[in-house]
Amino acid sequence: MPTIHNLGFPRIGKKRELKFALEKYWQGHSSQPELEEVAAQLRRQHWAEQKHLDFVPAGDFSFYDQVLDSSFLLGNIPDQFKCVEDFNTSHSLDQYFTVARGRSFEDHDSGCRHQDLSAGEMTKWFDTNYHYIVPEFRTNTHFSLNPQRLLAQIEQAKKQNYRVKPVIIGPITYLWLGKSRDKSDRIELLESLLDVYSELLQLLSEQGIEWVQIDEPVLVTELSEQWRHALRTAYYRLQNIPVKILLTTYFGKLQENLRLACELPVDGLHINALDNEQEVAKVIDWLPSQKVLSLGIINGRNIWKSDLNHLLKWLKPVYERLQERLWLAPSCSLLHVPVDLNSEQKLDAEIKDWLSFAVQKLQELDVINQALTHGADKVKQELEENKRCIVSRQQSERIHKPQVKSRVASITDDMVNRKSPYTVRAEVQQKRFKLPVYPTTTIGSFPQTGDIRQVRRQYRNGQLAETDYLKIIQQEVKRSINEQEKLGLDVLVHGEAERNDMVEYFGELLDGFDFSQFGWVQSYGSRCVKPPILFGDISRSETMTVEWIKYAQSLTDKPMKGMLTGPVTILNWSFVRDDQSRAETCFQIALAIRDEVLDLEQAGISIIQIDEAALREGLPLRKSQWNDYLDWAIKAFRIAANGVQDETQIHTHMCYSEFNDIIEAIAGMDADVITIETSRSDMELLDVFDKFQYPNEIGPGVYDIHSPNIPSVAAMVELLQKASIRIPAQRLWVNPDCGLKTRQWDEVRPALSNMIEAARQLRTAFQV
Ligand code: GLN
Ligand code: ZN
Repeated sequence: MPTIHNLGFPRIGKKRELKFALEKYWQGHSSQPELEEVAAQLRRQHWAEQKHLDFVPAGDFSFYDQVLDSSFLLGNIPDQFKCVEDFNTSHSLDQYFTVARGRSFEDHDSGCRHQDLSAGEMTKWFDTNYHYIVPEFRTNTHFSLNPQRLLAQIEQAKKQNYRVKPVIIGPITYLWLGKSRDKSDRIELLESLLDVYSELLQLLSEQGIEWVQIDEPVLVTELSEQWRHALRTAYYRLQNIPVKILLTTYFGKLQENLRLACELPVDGLHINALDNEQEVAKVIDWLPSQKVLSLGIINGRNIWKSDLNHLLKWLKPVYERLQERLWLAPSCSLLHVPVDLNSEQKLDAEIKDWLSFAVQKLQELDVINQALTHGADKVKQELEENKRCIVSRQQSERIHKPQVKSRVASITDDMVNRKSPYTVRAEVQQKRFKLPVYPTTTIGSFPQTGDIRQVRRQYRNGQLAETDYLKIIQQEVKRSINEQEKLGLDVLVHGEAERNDMVEYFGELLDGFDFSQFGWVQSYGSRCVKPPILFGDISRSETMTVEWIKYAQSLTDKPMKGMLTGPVTILNWSFVRDDQSRAETCFQIALAIRDEVLDLEQAGISIIQIDEAALREGLPLRKSQWNDYLDWAIKAFRIAANGVQDETQIHTHMCYSEFNDIIEAIAGMDADVITIETSRSDMELLDVFDKFQYPNEIGPGVYDIHSPNIPSVAAMVELLQKASIRIPAQRLWVNPDCGLKTRQWDEVRPALSNMIEAARQLRTAFQV
């Protein structure tokens, strides 16, 4: 029979138990043994959910991040943290948390996901929304094995009588994920790194471990010959240790690395089999006959039920051919999906039928296994039930709205383009707004105090009447406008007090979305996100922001920016339907946002900002696929934005500074103004403008909102002077990096006051 297994289980807990335990510990309200006990308890529960598998994973549990765990396992701690005591003891977690969080950590939920400098650098794990701590390398980096934590997890599973498959990140992926801090070539460290991996595998074999899962997801990316060579070196070196290696790849197809992956001297290969029948067929032909082939047949990153009958039909001949060489698993670690659908009490019953979270996915695997081993009759009922759900989803009127589909089909070029080019618009807009040079504005949100959050919560739970709620939020809008007028900003915002989250707010108002109660997935450390479930054709049944913005505009003579989230960001931060292309779904959202933009314009709103905070993170793993993504993503933005008249000014905002490689696409959005994050990179980002003449207006953020520090006038003047070397002053705006919702008014007031003073000084200098 086939072997069924799992690459990793979510560790945060059904009800985010790990998050709460961690935060309690960080606040000093619990002891280390108490925290360890919660962790052990969670592992016990998670293995129990996997007990029908032939192997359970161990080592997939982490207190913060599995890459940081690898750094500790391999004894690779950045120098600046070596001063923290207890480095080599397995008892103290404090050094670990110091590397993870720095010393004065703040939880930023502005959507920008940054942290203080003193903490280890964090970045996105491949093309997921999970963030890992970047390993650091130097020429003299020395590795040493610290296996205690991994061994303890293995020991715990064994004691509970599980057949354990330890999970570790492969040496090449580990190096590839890290950064050299002294310009040395990190591949040079491979030999000494392999010493430690050998030692580890040796140790695992002595512990009676039969199979080790070694993750090398780099194999689905474009690799230079140097990296491909490193892979060969590594696995030739590790092949003689008496433990079997299952080399796992996920998140994409192997493509040009397929042959390499088949040839590496390991005992088994796991590949992503979703939508990948062709590659699977090739691997079956190419894989040496002594090797195991593990197919990732259940989507480990999305929440839809698998079509089991379809899978079975495909797998039957595969199984006949491979027999016990066939292993089956989810496509990747289940870290990226919520834990258990059964926790959901409020989800719409029809929609719930279409979903599958981690626990359910492993049950799907079991049904497939039973059917292959004993025949489909053995699981007749399960297969019929699955079929019912799949058909219900294919045919539901909640999902399929002919008028939405036909609207997308009839998108014309006219809808994608502004009426006139930027230079013409700029003149019309200058006449309308008469803004000074270096105009000042903010990105959208103002501080969200505990009171505001509480009011929103009470309203949500029905403890506060709508009229009372509206009154309180209106008060808040009024307050933020007063503050802005007192400060003397040129273009105002309403402050977003009514919004909990920039995507969720729109998801709740659009048709085609639903929301889970406990559908949390880990974003980084203890921080989780609960992505909206985008299940159907998207439409807007009523205006979403117009009343708020109209109200805000009625309180001031200054222009008030209408504030929207863009289609690409809404798409990228949701669990998205898999029954049509992402582009198609994105165009549907774009049309809904377009309607809102036009309604705002109708209501007299003269400036509209459409945030695309997540545009960059949707880039595919392979560069060769970037253009395809950018083509439809930029088009979607243009559909949303470009229906307006010349005199309406469109802004967009992005919270990152690395866009050198996509600057042309960003210019292609043709927003009149773009605001971006730059203050922390000291305007380095603007280097790109030496080579590329950015055509429209730009506000390089001069105030780092991720830090409580109040930037000085001089510092901001200097940043803007640097910017004006590359971008003509007439096209520069003055603004913070991002929204201010995580800050306090006491910080925001002096910071903005300094920012406005900086703009004033620059204007004076400009006129002279
Ligand atoms: N307008 C949003 C805000 O100010 C933008 C947030 C973001 O870019 N992450 O909060
Ligand atoms: Zn931002």
